[in-house]
Amino acid sequence: MKPISSYPKQEHQPGFVVWELDHQDGQRRLEFFCEACGYNHFFDERWMWNGDYVKPTFYPSLLVNGHTPSMKCHSFVTNGEIHYLADCFHGFKNQRIPLKP
Ligand SMILES: [Zn+2]
Repeated sequence: MKPISSYPKQEHQPGFVVWELDHQDGQRRLEFFCEACGYNHFFDERWMWNGDYVKPTFYPSLLVNGHTPSMKCHSFVTNGEIHYLADCFHGFKNQRIPLKP
């Protein structure tokens, strides 16, 4: 596990469940589709990553809309699976779901 910025960039390829975003601030972001929320979430250079686009692991957890309980999505992504934590607003809480390409 190393910071996202320490891995070389790769173009999106079939089978990848996370993909690179070029952001205007120059930081790298790795984005994925969250089935529970119906929109994309991303990890930026604050996270540690295993460098794998197919079976990614990120650390620590990802908290989306943390100040709004009715929209909160809190998860760990480990080995290509998203593990939704108990404090999510949606019905995927406490479930492990494989990320899809
Ligand atoms: Zn979500």
